[in-house]
Amino acid sequence: MRAMVLDEPGRPLRAAQLPDPEPGPSQVLVRIEGCGVCRTDLHVVDGELAHPKLPLIVGHQVVGTIEGDGGSRFEAGERVGVPWLGWTCGVCRYCRSGRENLCDEARFTGYQLDGGYAERTIADERFCIPLPLEYPDVQAAPLLCAGLIGYRSLRMAGDAERLGLYGFGASAHIVIQIARHQGRRAYAFTRPGDEAGQGFALELGAEWAGGSDGPAPEELDAAIIFAPAGELVPQALRATAKGGTVVCAGIHMSDIPSFPYELLWGERVVRSVANLTRRDGEEFMALAPEIPIRTEVEVYELEHANEALDRLRAGRVRGAAVLRIAS
Ligand SMILES: [Zn+2]
Ligand SMILES: [Zn+2]
Repeated sequence: MRAMVLDEPGRPLRAAQLPDPEPGPSQVLVRIEGCGVCRTDLHVVDGELAHPKLPLIVGHQVVGTIEGDGGSRFEAGERVGVPWLGWTCGVCRYCRSGRENLCDEARFTGYQLDGGYAERTIADERFCIPLPLEYPDVQAAPLLCAGLIGYRSLRMAGDAERLGLYGFGASAHIVIQIARHQGRRAYAFTRPGDEAGQGFALELGAEWAGGSDGPAPEELDAAIIFAPAGELVPQALRATAKGGTVVCAGIHMSDIPSFPYELLWGERVVRSVANLTRRDGEEFMALAPEIPIRTEVEVYELEHANEALDRLRAGRVRGAAVLRIAS
């Protein structure tokens, strides 16, 4: 099969021909139709996340069809999604309390397990997610992480009416649609001068869009930070009303600069969101077509994965980047 392989962090992915992977017990073989490109892929490729499996196939928003034996949950030919959460132990205190996203032994797709920048992958059938039929393959891909993590982050923001979104990329472009559907008001903070990003946010129903360096147009009840920039934490706290929550949605962030306690005072909360549970997946995949969420995608061929990552790194992707993988 064709695959894009990470040999070492800090180097571009290498196009390779590899043997098809063979499923082990409770695993299924998936023929990949498309795979979303996530900022987390970039953190792995750029070496900001420690100890990836090497060599590695990144990508954890995998849309494909079951090939051969569908195991106990699926039939051959059925479409599934393979998300970031690839395996959990099932017995630790987190797993047993509905918090498998925090499992100490968890393994993640496209990080400790080979992922979707390839024609085929193997996945634990218990962690595969059936996808809503309404979405073509490439449009479905960003639901698997950008959508899922965004959904979980929005839940952590509580019932905030005035919601700030810091970084308007793949995740925010989905979250804003859920937020609007729930009757919330959204404010988009982009890189200073990113007029394209601000225009995109306004098209999707933002009340306001502007640079993250300027003041917020009004007080926020909660903020979700998608951009991996630690300085946004004190900025978002400054913009948030008493009792409000600032949610850090990314897996990696630059150091958070020190800030006066006054910014946190007033029962403000700063928290992170880590990974996803299978339950998040079921809930969100049921919700997406109901709203309905529309994903805006930039499509790349598998061999152009490095180009897609470069555009993401430069903040130039409108919506989500997705690799189309026709085998
Ligand atoms: Zn566990
Ligand atoms: Zn992701």
